[in-house]
Amino acid sequence: MLILGNGIVITLNKDSEIISKGGVVIEGGRILDLGDTSILQKKYPHAIFKNVQGKIIMPGMINTHTHLYSTFARGMDLKTAQLPTKFGEILEKLWWRLDKALGEKDIYYSALYALLDCIKKGTTTIFDHHASSNLIEGSLDILEEAVQQSGIRASLAYEVSDRDGHQKALAGIRENERFIKKIKRNNSGYLNGMIGLHAAFTLQNSTLEKAADLADELETPFHLHIAEGKEDYYDSKTRGYKGVAYRLNQHRILRPGTLAIHGVNLSEEEWEILRDSGSYLIHNPESNMNNAVGALPIQAVLNKGVQVGLGTDGYTADMFESIKVANLLQKHEMKDPQAGGQEIFDLVFHTNREIANKFFDKKLGTLQIGAPADLIVIDYYSPTPINRNNFYFHLLFGITGDRVDTTIVGGKILMEGKEIINLDYKILTQKVQEQAFNFWERF
Ligand SMILES: [Zn+2]
Repeated sequence: MLILGNGIVITLNKDSEIISKGGVVIEGGRILDLGDTSILQKKYPHAIFKNVQGKIIMPGMINTHTHLYSTFARGMDLKTAQLPTKFGEILEKLWWRLDKALGEKDIYYSALYALLDCIKKGTTTIFDHHASSNLIEGSLDILEEAVQQSGIRASLAYEVSDRDGHQKALAGIRENERFIKKIKRNNSGYLNGMIGLHAAFTLQNSTLEKAADLADELETPFHLHIAEGKEDYYDSKTRGYKGVAYRLNQHRILRPGTLAIHGVNLSEEEWEILRDSGSYLIHNPESNMNNAVGALPIQAVLNKGVQVGLGTDGYTADMFESIKVANLLQKHEMKDPQAGGQEIFDLVFHTNREIANKFFDKKLGTLQIGAPADLIVIDYYSPTPINRNNFYFHLLFGITGDRVDTTIVGGKILMEGKEIINLDYKILTQKVQEQAFNFWERF
């Protein structure tokens, strides 16, 4: 039994309760109790006591869209005379070439580095979207191994695509099927599988139908990009549909629990299709800005009743950074200083939590008795009081992922005092860099 005490406990429970001089008692991977530190110490005199000395104690962050395979792209020479000028070219000149070149060690070390980065930035649950079109079968097992080593929770999916031929698409469907069946057999609570699809514009109708049949059989929804760039929209128009969501809905891809990523180029009628299907729309502000694809008008989408979550698309592992950028992007885009307020907070602490609860544990994302002990300690000493009404402003103006001091998942300490426990971070990052150098030679 462990008590983390003398902190400011941000419970994020239904009353947004904050406990000053508070503590959390952890036993058997779950939260046994929480409240005033001195009371907890008296109640549990034999527990190991860790004094966090006024730091913040809060639930670990949840990222509902990322790509563990993207690590080696950082600083990579694209070896092309003409750098990409639009979104479609970014895919062709960078991502689709990168995913073709990924081998077993590349997938493993890319993932391991990205996962360690999650621990460092306080992200304890992720939803990953993987592609490696010359190593499809077994690729999710390689990610699984890295996830297990890291100790965080991850939903994995292989992004099926016809872009490298229909046989590869079929192999992608088989990989999702194999992995999801395996995960369902040995459910650890740490791993989950969804059916990944790249995006409508690289998928034939027959592939969509096959994938939908599998989703029916496995009762598992999809994880796919939707209307990220204009290319996806024009493709659906060319195929005779009114838009991307119309096409995906007709082929049974939009369904309860489907994670539809980006949605920058959807019409208002398509937001309604998403809402009525029970899908989630996942906003990735930094990625959208970096690819210059436009900005999702969050408040307008929410006003339609769409459920919107927040992801990073592999741009960063730091959800605190993503919150800050989401807030600024809305204000900047709408020319409205009130935009990006409570709604961004809700994407992260309401909808992302709801998604994690759907696929993992019912109580992830809050500090309450019986919840999984997924929590982080942040060395943030505020110049102003912190209360339930102003915590969001401390997130926007003070707290960053680099201030995360301790990360605990399922009661296991993965990082303490900013040091990764159980894995040698320095040696691992050196191996990652050697592998990256080797990969760049082959790219
Ligand atoms: Zn993505």
